[in-house]
Amino acid sequence: MTTPTFTLNNGVQIPAIGLGVFQSKPEETSAAVASALKVGYRHIDTAAVYGNERQVGEGIRASGIDRSEIVIETKVWVSDYGYDETLHAFEKSTRKLGFDELDLLILHQPATHRLEQTLAAYRALETLLADGRVRAIGVSNFMPDHLARLLAETEVVPALNQVELHPYFSQPTVQAADAAAGVLTQAWSPIGGITFYPGWGDHRRSVMDDPTIAAIAAAHGKSPAQVMLRWGIQEGRSVIPKSTNPTRIAENFDVFDFELSAEEMAQLDALDTGVRSGPDPDEERTEFFDRVIPEE
Ligand code: NAP
Repeated sequence: MTTPTFTLNNGVQIPAIGLGVFQSKPEETSAAVASALKVGYRHIDTAAVYGNERQVGEGIRASGIDRSEIVIETKVWVSDYGYDETLHAFEKSTRKLGFDELDLLILHQPATHRLEQTLAAYRALETLLADGRVRAIGVSNFMPDHLARLLAETEVVPALNQVELHPYFSQPTVQAADAAAGVLTQAWSPIGGITFYPGWGDHRRSVMDDPTIAAIAAAHGKSPAQVMLRWGIQEGRSVIPKSTNPTRIAENFDVFDFELSAEEMAQLDALDTGVRSGPDPDEERTEFFDRVIPEE
């Protein structure tokens, strides 16, 4: 089956769904990637700071699928922001992945307390794009004010903005700002994964247990995860669910044989609480941001 695609603002096409590998242990990552490619995924989302780019590359090579058919997306970490530093970060990532070129290279955080380095990092992405080393560039966790500043100070409109987005936090304002600028919104934690983060305490409610989502899922003979992914894709978002479990990897991809009604979509939209589960993009998290990305 050919996966439906979204066309980025520079004409590059990406599959509507990709595999995320945040918190996938290195020793489990290549098997997860191989398992995903086997059931039809053609897009993998990793990041320098996830520490598993090498295993993503291994999983892709083990699949035997032609590199040109697969969209590889990775992210530059904050400690590598700055023009020369980001060019070097590209070399580190490509060396670990084992491929000379990338499909999507994005800035992982706006790092608003380090604005000049962030802008310089983005200019390095523009250079990599102009040199044909990456097919598209973008950002992550950019709120409308961050995006406006970037648009005002740089040349290339980001192809996408990867943000926390699930039924309990659907960020309509971010989506509107992205759309107005021609930026594709890409949903991280599309099935609410971040609510499972260890250490957040017991007060978090998982979208997985939501009764409205459960009822819609039952009506279609699908799982809550499948409903949330379908909702995202039907609203025109790229979704990148993470799993290392082959059954769930396959389940998350099996979302192209049903359609949610306008009423169901409206019910899902109405679940937004306006409360993020993940970190505030404006927060300076020095210890985390300064984490050094190894050369090898
Ligand atoms: P997610 O994909 O919404 O959820 C992942 C969690 O759900 C895992 O615990 C996974 O466990 C479980 N799961 C997967 N499929 C399931 C299913 N069908 N039924 C029940 N449980 C299921 O959350 P995420 O990993 O936070 O986000 C997805 C991707 O977005 C990441 O992997 C990463 O690539 C990206 N991301 C980016 C940022 C950023 O700042 N840019 C932040 C967070 C995430 P198992 O593995 O055991 O299945």
